[in-house]
Amino acid sequence: MNVVATSGWHARAFGSAVADLDLRFDAGAPQRTITALLAHCLRDARGDAPLPGELTRWSLARRLHALIAVRLAGEPGAHEPLQARCELCDAEYEFDLALERCAEFVPDDAPLHWLAPDGRRLQLHLPCAADFEAWQARGMVDAQRLAAMLVDAVDDAPPLDGFELDAAWLLPLADAMAMRDPLNALAVDADCPDCGHRQSLEIELESLLLHAFARQQRHLLDSVLRLAQALHWTESEIVALPAWRREFYLDRMAPGATLT
Ligand SMILES: [Zn+2]
Repeated sequence: MNVVATSGWHARAFGSAVADLDLRFDAGAPQRTITALLAHCLRDARGDAPLPGELTRWSLARRLHALIAVRLAGEPGAHEPLQARCELCDAEYEFDLALERCAEFVPDDAPLHWLAPDGRRLQLHLPCAADFEAWQARGMVDAQRLAAMLVDAVDDAPPLDGFELDAAWLLPLADAMAMRDPLNALAVDADCPDCGHRQSLEIELESLLLHAFARQQRHLLDSVLRLAQALHWTESEIVALPAWRREFYLDRMAPGATLT
């Protein structure tokens, strides 16, 4: 199943091509993994993949939205299980996050125009993976300097060298950005099954999705191994099968399974 991921791009299910087995989810570089995953799973109308350089300039919001589309292409109506602890009665419980609802937040990548309290007009872009790489390469951790790198224009001119943001602007600026990008600061309501208390939980959607893809990949590797041992098919042949057929063969191979 193909799902419209983001303007002009269609997503296919992760795990439906043998190249998906090459992706590393444990390399400690999540943005690099996401770039590779999107390059594997997105295609334009002509069937071409996005270039990695292009993907690193997509906002994190747009990348996250595309990741959701890849997940939904593999499992329409997918839910991610989440653990929560009630802030009132301390009960631990599990609840499901419906990804289709998250996909409704379509990110707006257009430049953000913000009127600073001193009257200057700033134009900013939402953070993209290239910003993260630049921050890491320069060892930057100072929020003010990080945010200053997102400023593309001040009063319609490029910012001067050494341009700095006022520390007091950071919070209102972060709020303005969160309005454009609700997925990166997603909060959902959850009800405690024990006492009924409703609380708002912040969701780390990006790591939740990466964990789901890593789980899917481990399951696929396991299926490849078991089917290859039993049937002597190649890795590519096994991965090319629709998931339901792999599961069907595995079910029938299980000890005690009866053939009908
Ligand atoms: Zn409770």
